[in-house]
Amino acid sequence: MTENTSPARVAIVTGGARGIGAAVAQRLASDGHAVAVVDLDEAACADTVDAITAKGGSALAVGCDVSDEAAVAAAVERIVAELGAPTVLVNNAGILRDNLLFKMSVDDWDAVMNVHLRGAFLMSRAVQSHMVEARFGRIVNLSSTSALGNRGQANYAAAKAGMQGFTKTLAIELGKFGVTANAIAPGFIETAMTRATAERVGVDFEAFRAAAISQIPVGRAGQPEDIAAVAAFLVREDAGFVSGQVIYAAGGPKD
Ligand code: NAP
Repeated sequence: MTENTSPARVAIVTGGARGIGAAVAQRLASDGHAVAVVDLDEAACADTVDAITAKGGSALAVGCDVSDEAAVAAAVERIVAELGAPTVLVNNAGILRDNLLFKMSVDDWDAVMNVHLRGAFLMSRAVQSHMVEARFGRIVNLSSTSALGNRGQANYAAAKAGMQGFTKTLAIELGKFGVTANAIAPGFIETAMTRATAERVGVDFEAFRAAAISQIPVGRAGQPEDIAAVAAFLVREDAGFVSGQVIYAAGGPKD
């Protein structure tokens, strides 16, 4: 159990079935939160939920497409009924639909915008009333170093830069209610997402990983737990004076 001065809270982690979201969900649970693990497929959340409950934590699997307004409303209603009012939200669900601009379809553009931006908007809007009522809230949005521009990712880079503007605006609007909003911008983190990128560019994952590490000042690839540690700090009660920030977690500086 990690030391935490904060009282138990209900947290929602989207895209919590695997990768970074699964690590964030497990970390927040070990810090004393009851965690709603939200992902497209409810059954896919079982591993994360089981890992939490096996350690004595409290977790609920919730199937929900975060880009679907009605599904988000129903999911938040269920979380309130089964776990309690959520005051911590980690908007982590994400997809890639990489392609060079001239080959990028409108569907690939829209799909990425819908999951990252529309999803974070819908979830934040659905949850903020509970935070305002509690006069406490913590919103953490997953951006990326790709927000700075990345070949083959016009859609994803735009969405991840959008997450930063969204975050800063939530911080401005919700600050007076005790709600902070911050973004984490990870660099190379070993998950299914980075494996899919290696596959897309036709490079063996180990070679892809080694090439990435050669550019990372701390000399290693990031792990989902590295991002979970940043999220764990940002949601703490005593992190209440940190808001509207973008924290690059990339093993070195980013512009
Ligand atoms: P991941 O392993 O692909 O996990 C993403 C999760 O989000 C999956 O479980 C996925 O479900 C779920 N998801 C996708 N669309 C959804 C939707 N519409 N509604 C609900 N859930 C949905 O990705 P990750 O690497 O952990 O990335 C997590 C976040 O960090 C993303 O926002 C990503 O952009 C960001 N990030 C990752 C890296 C990295 O290096 N890995 C770097 C920077 C930023 P399915 O499995 O069913 O698709």
